[in-house]
Amino acid sequence: MEKRIYNFAAGPAILPEPVLKEAQEQLWALPGVGMSILEISHRSKTFDKIIAEAKEGLKSLLSISDDYELLFLQGGASLQFSMVPLNLMVKNKKADYIVTGSWSKKAVKEAKRVGTVNIAASTEEGNFKRIPKQEELKLDPQADYVHFTSNNTIFGTEWHKEPEVRNVPLVCDASSDILHKKIDVSKYALIYAGAQKNIGPSGVTLVIIRKDLLERSSDSLHTMLNYKTHVENNSLYNTPNVFGIYIINLVCKWLNGLGGLDGMYKINKEKADILYKCIDESGGFYKGHAEKDSRSLMNITFNLASEDLEKKLVSEATAAGFDGLKGHRSVGGLRASIYNAFPKKGVEDLVSFMKDFQKKNG
Ligand code: PMP
Repeated sequence: MEKRIYNFAAGPAILPEPVLKEAQEQLWALPGVGMSILEISHRSKTFDKIIAEAKEGLKSLLSISDDYELLFLQGGASLQFSMVPLNLMVKNKKADYIVTGSWSKKAVKEAKRVGTVNIAASTEEGNFKRIPKQEELKLDPQADYVHFTSNNTIFGTEWHKEPEVRNVPLVCDASSDILHKKIDVSKYALIYAGAQKNIGPSGVTLVIIRKDLLERSSDSLHTMLNYKTHVENNSLYNTPNVFGIYIINLVCKWLNGLGGLDGMYKINKEKADILYKCIDESGGFYKGHAEKDSRSLMNITFNLASEDLEKKLVSEATAAGFDGLKGHRSVGGLRASIYNAFPKKGVEDLVSFMKDFQKKNG
């Protein structure tokens, strides 16, 4: 069988090996079904069970109460940039957005088509190196909701605590750090996340929505853009991403086997600490992009002294079996995405490689 390499891609990203193996085994025929997951009807009993289990798996990992509905939608997190304001920006037709990176900016762009957007804070000055402090947030108590991006995939920054927004509903794009640790879902009105980093493959988007918000969704909305449609039809109004939901279910089982999200967080912290330590102890050879208190545990961004040296590192690393390290063009340098499924051994091996590279080029 083909050997696997270390995949540091930002998304679609690495999946847990036991999940891939189980899916591979079952791809010929699901036990007792005689057909593969790629072939079964989304209206079959088998799939009813899979979608129910996937929801239960997520509910139990995140301790989500019955006050919330879970949806598996399509159109990526990017469609949520539109669905959120279309469904929720209805009372006062205004919302607060905290801008911490390119994805927050894209969310703002769509929200502005629906109503008034107040930029409650932006850390664009300094190229999104940090998460704003609570005191910096200029929140409007009349806003229909506050939107923030919990992890900034491109810049490598992450909120370590939710912004405090009092009674205004809090909406979060958690695409790149969902399930990396336990969060208190009761603080949120709506959480959305494209699956392709920490939950599963691309093509399915998780939406966790508090039930009371559904009364805001107007019947005049297009059917597919209305959260109520998907709640009323258990995410089966149209054909969902059957395979994606199946993988999500396996990923939840894998996480439960590791001790749930507390166990996962411990591992994620260890992995990120190893890499940040290497950066911090390099005497300036490697320079982290994010300010220390804003550092992401999922996407670790850093630069070297010159673009040429960065290119050399990426190319030598790729040749050595470390794939996907080239940083996003807006930050340059390197980005190591070390999502839940990324093994600790891979981080340790990368650090040895980086130390060696520094010795030769420092
Ligand atoms: N939000 C964040 C934080 C992301 O990282 C991404 C994708 N990298 C998106 C939104 C857009 O997701 P999608 O491609 O699923 O639309």
